[in-house]
Amino acid sequence: MQANDLLHLAEQFGSPLYVYDAEKIQSQYNRLTKAFSKVPNLRINYAMKALSNVAILQLLRDMGSGLDTVSIQEVLLGLHAGYAPEKIFYTPNGVSLEEIEEVHALGVQINIDNLSILEQFGAKHPHVPVCIRINPHVMAGGNANISVGHIDSKFGISVHQLPHLVRIVENTNMNIVGIHMHTGSDILDIEVFLYAAEILFDAAKNFKNLEFLDFGSGFKVPYKKDDIATDIDELGKKLSKRFNAFCAEYGKDLTLIFEPGKFLVSEAGFFLAKVNVVKQTTSTVFAGIDSGFNHLIRPMLYGSQHFIENISNPKGKERFYSVVGYICETDTFATNRRISEIKEGDILSFRNAGAYCFSMSSNYNSRYKPAEVLWMNGQGYLIRAHEKFEDLLQNQIPLPVEITATV
Ligand SMILES: *Cc1c(COP(=O)(O)O)cnc(C)c1O
Repeated sequence: MQANDLLHLAEQFGSPLYVYDAEKIQSQYNRLTKAFSKVPNLRINYAMKALSNVAILQLLRDMGSGLDTVSIQEVLLGLHAGYAPEKIFYTPNGVSLEEIEEVHALGVQINIDNLSILEQFGAKHPHVPVCIRINPHVMAGGNANISVGHIDSKFGISVHQLPHLVRIVENTNMNIVGIHMHTGSDILDIEVFLYAAEILFDAAKNFKNLEFLDFGSGFKVPYKKDDIATDIDELGKKLSKRFNAFCAEYGKDLTLIFEPGKFLVSEAGFFLAKVNVVKQTTSTVFAGIDSGFNHLIRPMLYGSQHFIENISNPKGKERFYSVVGYICETDTFATNRRISEIKEGDILSFRNAGAYCFSMSSNYNSRYKPAEVLWMNGQGYLIRAHEKFEDLLQNQIPLPVEITATV
């Protein structure tokens, strides 16, 4: 997408605005399937928590993707977007037995990540095909909040508890059809990932009825210039070879599954916001935009650096700006960033705004959430309208006058 296209979309649909480039999502999907083309049975389940707009789900469905979900509400959204239940995986953490049973009743593959629920579920439903989430205890992530495979992580069943796990499976006679791991976002080093994969292969040998191995995700995409990205082609080459060898040893062509979120949608997204005010203090020039961490929380929550461009003045002389939001507490998108000269009314574009941006937005400060636009074949399609005042009141129940009058 060109900066000019984005500028026109901001004029057409107003700001703040999320824009997603369909072509980029498609090309990332193709990159991944191509890297693993030597694996006979490959399956990509899009981790929809990254970006759950129904139009995006439809787009990925039409590319052939399955879905990875973490809540029953995501399962319902996936079914609503037209995914067959067999195309949906459910990989929750710390949810109730009841929710797992409800999701199973919808025909969706469940994945259990703790021994207590596994035992309860197995005792009640011994014949249901179940996947188990193993924690290989490999520290793969960049940020402690998104790294979920390390030793004191709450995710998955510890690989050290494998004997206990096997005992539960034998006692309940449950049907384990898959093994899963997800070491967390931002794999920097392929060797670390392959090391975790070996732990999964070892664990897999304990189960005779497997149909698939799910390697989760954590593919890193570049956020800033010269940033490290997971080398998908290299990972594809090495892991495919090892996976096919494992299948030969196991005696069955298993399906290899990945659940990428960020990899598929991060770089496809742009967040557009208008500069309300340029404020010069003694040491800093602030560019205050018509948005805040209510719309894009990653910089405040994870310290993420989203590349920011002034698309209203792309050729302007570069100066240093701190880009801040309008939320009434510290709300910083970037500190002393080099950006081409900013005037009030200019549109700033934030890159990598496809994953964990809109999906983590809120109405904090009683602000409306932004609209979303899908850019496809040279045209912008509105896929979520800007909110209105009624949206803020939805589900709120005012007290009857008789009651407030008694205070
Ligand atoms: C969040 C999540 C993913 C996706 O992670 P990305 O870093 O966005 O690719 C995959 N699997 C599970 C179980 C997750 O919770």
